[in-house]
Amino acid sequence: MTQRPGFPVKLTPSGTPRPAGKTTVGISARQAPLLPPSLNATQAAAKAAGSAMSRPDPLVSGLGLDSVAVRARMVRKLAEQGVQDPRVLSAMGQVERHRFVESALVNQAYEDTSLPIGLGQTISKPNVVARMVELLCQNTQGPLGRILEIGTGCGYQAAVLSHVASEVYSIERLRGLHEKARTNLRPFRLHNVHLIFGDGMLGYPKGAPYAGIISAAGGDAVPEAWLAQLAVGGRLIAPTITPAGHQALVVVLKTAEGFERQVLEAVHFVPLKSGVA
Ligand code: SAH
Repeated sequence: MTQRPGFPVKLTPSGTPRPAGKTTVGISARQAPLLPPSLNATQAAAKAAGSAMSRPDPLVSGLGLDSVAVRARMVRKLAEQGVQDPRVLSAMGQVERHRFVESALVNQAYEDTSLPIGLGQTISKPNVVARMVELLCQNTQGPLGRILEIGTGCGYQAAVLSHVASEVYSIERLRGLHEKARTNLRPFRLHNVHLIFGDGMLGYPKGAPYAGIISAAGGDAVPEAWLAQLAVGGRLIAPTITPAGHQALVVVLKTAEGFERQVLEAVHFVPLKSGVA
């Protein structure tokens, strides 16, 4: 994929050939305006929509879509479906999901559906992204600390996470998607998102310990490396095959005494694979 000249993308120096590389996306200091805790979900949805970029958007207006209004409707729907955390609703209202999908799919960008992003992978449904980020935020206040995302894909969820966390490390095993995410995220100038090309089954020890780890791909078990790289008090959210043989969302809380594990609802995520390609 071609890189636009002049954009300040930093590549972490490492030997060649590199099995893994890190890209810092963007430059300008920007923090998500966090909503006061007193704000309820409906107010948050309205505020999120209002604070989203309001400039004319030729990409969607050409298709007869008003991006801000369509996103506000998506956020209202998420609130109706039970997403309550104002931080999450605000983030979902701010990130322009249509910029992460192929132009032919732009008119479906705000529907509650997963969409293909190439190389056999999919961008998760907004509802699933919001649910997982809300689980990550559970029992916390204000911005989260450092978060590790396994499976950058097109970069959408990394952008959402950048609004609720101080730093986001996002790792992808497919070079084509790692590059695509870098291109997609560039215009957003999210200084706190770090894209890594590598095998996320090994975590990313350089950023550890993490306040949260979130996986967008489902494995047979939670890799040991993730548990080791989680901070005490940190939370891990990962689709995992349960003993019953289906994939479910698993939440692991790391405490001073050990790990507390909860198995939640059934989900359908693409498989977690080892190695890079
Ligand atoms: N969060 C993404 C969803 C991408 S789908 C988004 O918003 O678009 C899940 C991704 O996990 C796929 O891109 C897949 O290639 C990636 N993946 C699977 N196993 C992985 C691994 N071991 N390390 C890193 N990425 C992995």
